[in-house]
Amino acid sequence: MSNEIKTQVVVLGAGPGGYSAAFRAADLGLEVTLVEARSTLGGVCLNVGCIPSKALLHVAKVIDDAKEMASHGVTFGAPEIDLDKIRAWKDKVIGQLTNGLGGMAKMRKVKVVNGYGKFTGANTLQVGDTTITFEHVIIAAGSEPVALPFIPKDDRVIDSTGALELKDIPGEMLVLGGGIIGLEMGTVYRALGSKVSVVEFADQLVPAADADIVKAYTKYNSKNFNIMLSTKVTAVEAKKDGLYVTFEGKNAPANPVRYDKILVAVGRKPNGNLLDAAKAGVNVDERGFINVDKQLRTNVPHIYAIGDVIGQPMLAHKAVHEGHVAAEVISGLKHFFDPRCIPSVAYTDPEMAWVGVTEKEAKEKGIAVETATFPWAASGRAIASARTEGFTKLIFDKETHRILGGAIVGINAGEMLGEICLAVEMGADAEDIALTIHAHPTLNESIGLAAEIYEGSITDLP
Ligand code: FAD
Repeated sequence: MSNEIKTQVVVLGAGPGGYSAAFRAADLGLEVTLVEARSTLGGVCLNVGCIPSKALLHVAKVIDDAKEMASHGVTFGAPEIDLDKIRAWKDKVIGQLTNGLGGMAKMRKVKVVNGYGKFTGANTLQVGDTTITFEHVIIAAGSEPVALPFIPKDDRVIDSTGALELKDIPGEMLVLGGGIIGLEMGTVYRALGSKVSVVEFADQLVPAADADIVKAYTKYNSKNFNIMLSTKVTAVEAKKDGLYVTFEGKNAPANPVRYDKILVAVGRKPNGNLLDAAKAGVNVDERGFINVDKQLRTNVPHIYAIGDVIGQPMLAHKAVHEGHVAAEVISGLKHFFDPRCIPSVAYTDPEMAWVGVTEKEAKEKGIAVETATFPWAASGRAIASARTEGFTKLIFDKETHRILGGAIVGINAGEMLGEICLAVEMGADAEDIALTIHAHPTLNESIGLAAEIYEGSITDLP
C-alpha cells in the first residue's frame, strides 16, 4: 500500500546538518519530515565518523598515557585488549547519542521516514512506497569515502567505516592517505598494537593544515609511524599471505611491501549525484557537489542544500550551522551563512588544530600577516604533563594587529582552539588577547602569552 505525506519542509538526510535543520525548523513552528536511509539518526558523524572515532581515540589515549607513566614512577602491566568489549563500548556511545536524537525528533513532532529518498519532481520525493509532497526541501545527503579503482576488492582493504568496525588488530597496516581521518584511525590501531605505515602523495601530512604544526606532529610521530611523504601507491596485489603494495615517489620502498591490512583514507565524495536531483531541476556538478548561495539556496529557490554535499570543509560543525541557517531562511528570517572562520581539528596525538587564514593562504591572497608563537617548552602545564612538543601560534593582520587565525599542536589543542575562533569572530586584536587574564597553569595560557610576545611584552623565551 502506498503512503502519502504532505509537509511544509522535508529534510533529506539526518546527519549533523539534517537533524540540526529539522530541529530548528520544527522549533520555528514548521511542519517537518526527516528522511533517512539508515536505521538511526545522526548520519556519518554519529554512526561511522566523529563520535565512534573519538571513542576509540579515547581508548588509544589511555593505553598511551598508561605506558608513558612508567617514566614518572608508575608502571602498569601490559594492556589486555578485549576487542569485543571495546566495540561494545563504542556502540554504546553511538547508541546513547543516536537514541537521544530520536527522542529529540519525537519531542518536536518531527516525522521520521526511514528509507532512501529520491526526487520525482520539484515538490515531490519518493521514499520506498511513500510519496512526500513538500513546500521546501533541505538536501543534507552528506558524503561517502572515495575508493581507489586500482585497489582490488578484498576484506583486508578497508575504509574508515571498516576501520571503525575494529574486526581485528592487524600486524602490519598501511594507511593510504595522510589526512585527518587516516591519521586518527592510524593512532587507534598503533596504540592497540599494529605497526602502522602512512603514505601521503603531498609533501606534508594533512596538506590543508598550517605547515608548522604538521611539522611538529610529524617529528613527534616519527617514532610511532613509518611516514612516507611525496609518495604514492601505484599497485596492490592481494595474495593469500597479505596485500603487496607497490609505491612510487620520493620515499618509495624499492620493492613491493606486504601488509595485513590497508586503510584507504584518500578523501570523501559528496552524495549529490545519487538523488535524481535533475528531476527537481537542481544542478549538481560532475563531482556530486550542489552549489548554493549564502542562504543555502540551490538554483531552485525552494530547494536548499547543506553540509558535506555542498563542499569543503566537510565537517560536522559546518553542517550544523548551515542547517540552522537554511531552516531559519525557510521560516522567513533574514539569516545567511557567513562565518569568519571554520575550525579544523585532527584528534591525533598530539592534536593539531587550526582556524582562519594560514600563512600560506595569506601569502596567496596578498594579506600582510605577522605571527607570534609560544613554545610549550616554556609552559608550566605542558612540562607538568610531560608533553612539551607543542606550540601555540597566532596570526595577525600586520596593519591592524587583529587576529586572523591561529594554529596549535599539542595535547588538547582541539579544546583550546575555541578561544581563537571566538577572537577571530569578534575581531579581537593582539592587545585584547594579551590583556585577557588566563588561568594558570593551563595550556590556554599559551594563547595569551603568544599575544604578549606579539605585543613585545615577553622577550625572554627559551
Ligand atoms: P552526513 O553525516 O554524511 O549524513 C548524511 C545522511 O544522509 C546519512 O546518514 C545518509 O544515510 C543520509 N542520506 C543520504 N542520501 C540520502 C537519501 N537520498 N535518502 C535518505 N537518506 C540519505 N567531522 C568533524 O567535524 N569532526 C570530526 O571529528 C570528524 N570525524 C570524522 C571521522 C570519520 C571517520 C569520518 C568518516 C568523518 C568525520 N567527520 C568529522 C566528518 C563528518 O562526519 C561530516 O562532515 C558530517 O557528518 C557531515 O554531515 P552531513 O549532515 O553533511 O552529512
